Amino acid sequence: MNIFDNIDNFIFPIFIYENETTFRNSLKLEYLNDSKVFIKNISKFIQSLVDLKIYNMLIFGIPKSRNSLGTSSYGKNGIAQKSIKRIKENFGDKINIISDVCLCQYNTSGHCGIYRNNGGGKKTDLNNMDTLIDNDKTLKILGKISLSLSESGTDYIAPSSMMDGQVLYLKKILENNNFNNVKIMSYSSKHNSCLYSPFRSNNFFQSNLIDKSLYQNSYHNFRESVREIILDIDEGADWVMIKPSFWYMDIVKELKTFIEKPLVVQNVSGEYALIKAAAEKKWLDETEWCILSLLSLRRAGADKIISYFIFKLLKKILDK
Ligand SMILES: [Zn+2]
Repeated sequence: MNIFDNIDNFIFPIFIYENETTFRNSLKLEYLNDSKVFIKNISKFIQSLVDLKIYNMLIFGIPKSRNSLGTSSYGKNGIAQKSIKRIKENFGDKINIISDVCLCQYNTSGHCGIYRNNGGGKKTDLNNMDTLIDNDKTLKILGKISLSLSESGTDYIAPSSMMDGQVLYLKKILENNNFNNVKIMSYSSKHNSCLYSPFRSNNFFQSNLIDKSLYQNSYHNFRESVREIILDIDEGADWVMIKPSFWYMDIVKELKTFIEKPLVVQNVSGEYALIKAAAEKKWLDETEWCILSLLSLRRAGADKIISYFIFKLLKKILDK
């Protein structure tokens, strides 16, 4: 198996910053910097990906300011919306834009939903999903985000907040507004995991202190992980996703025995950090280990891989 035969199997995550100072302050973990761009430089940045034949991009907007309800997530001129328009103007349909749909980078709590008391005041019970996060109010905002991203020209929406019924709800919103062409890549089985910590501590406001275990999957529960994928397919997802990747390949393997929808995995920052840290100590060869890890994910059955290191890896291989 040559994993580079089809670069379409890779998706590159991109974080687009609206504020230059926030962007500069985020560049502390060198190995994650390839995925970050200040909005003004977006066209040049995308061109560098196109040069490597990377056409699938998962984009996240990082707004210049946040508020309790995360309202800039669905503004016509929001950071993700402006970026999508600019990418489509310059590159057209050559680029497949997959846009994250969540609130955690736009609201002040850093949670993927809004607090039951309208986003303000005291959190009532941090151990109880029903009193902490309002699932249905969150869905309404996710609907607004999805519509504004679709109006801007996204090809896929990627709901990542793990709210119950999010795929079904968003699918209906798209259909009712004549966006049948916009597809859904669902973060179906997003596990609560320490493997996100390098990225979170580097990017998101106080995020290391936020416990998302109330709505993200438990890594103890294999059946739940499988069930969440099946539910999202039933609700209408076009692509389903498992996150993180390396230690979740049993779930990939199991699902590929019976699902037909493309299965995506996200290789997250902590997974890359392990390879990177050991490579810096010269304990291993980074390129070789990155290739081996991607290959093992494909062998387990992953159809597409979201990876922070794919840009660096392809550049290195093609430059040889
Ligand atoms: Zn989120």
